[in-house]
Amino acid sequence: MLTLVDATVRFAARAVLDRVGLAVDEHEIVCVLGPSGSGKSTLLRAVAGLQELDAGQVLLGGRDQRGVPAHKRGVGLMFQDHQLFPQRDVAGNVAFGLRMHGASRGEQADRVAELLDLVGLPGAQRRAVASLSGGEQQRVALARALAPRPRLLMLDEPLGQLDRSLRERLVVELRELFDELGTTVLAVTHDQGEAFALADRVVVMREGRIAQSGTPLEVWQHPADEFVARFLGFDN
Ligand code: ATP
Ligand code: MG
Repeated sequence: MLTLVDATVRFAARAVLDRVGLAVDEHEIVCVLGPSGSGKSTLLRAVAGLQELDAGQVLLGGRDQRGVPAHKRGVGLMFQDHQLFPQRDVAGNVAFGLRMHGASRGEQADRVAELLDLVGLPGAQRRAVASLSGGEQQRVALARALAPRPRLLMLDEPLGQLDRSLRERLVVELRELFDELGTTVLAVTHDQGEAFALADRVVVMREGRIAQSGTPLEVWQHPADEFVARFLGFDN
């Protein structure tokens, strides 16, 4: 579904993504972990087409994405700070990507209703974004990312601004939702518990490179090196 081959992004002279190789299978849920500044968001932006590569390739469904604009890649990206449109109501936010794809008003309304049910906000179409709680806003952002039925859904710290109990509940709901929809997911988090609950596979990044990739159990039981062990909190 998604393949990165030696993907490299440089800012000034520094490689923020340094020859990253990664393959994500259809229906797989992969979580990217790593310290702040290790290149997680840059990785997602590169796949989404919001960040050009300096070298290497992004392949989606076997096709090289060089020169393919973001809205033609068929991927959904939920940003780290969710970036809802404050001047639009809930329905206006969720329908954003549908409008861009030329859906009719009727189609948009049906899909918005379906998505709001899915994320547990039935009937919230006309609510002002500012009147929603943080968790509700994140659910709206999720509905917006899912709206155009992306073949790959990418989430950057999807539960980042929520308190622990809400995160724990939502992470279980998300896993169920993705299983039900068969969505392929690439999600960034720096919360290990979240990654381990959500992911089929975790990828640990360090300074623009992949330090380890494996099932949560593999990574947890056999950290590849001292960096990964420390990052996971095994201090000795
Ligand atoms: P966090 O967990 O804090 O979100 P991250 O792993 O997502 O971190 P990135 O946002 O991918 O990190 O950034 C990786 C590095 O690249 C950082 O050092 C950042 O300062 C740098 N960087 C990102 N975007 C740019 C840019 N447009 N210009 C210069 N440097 C950038
Ligand atoms: Mg980031």
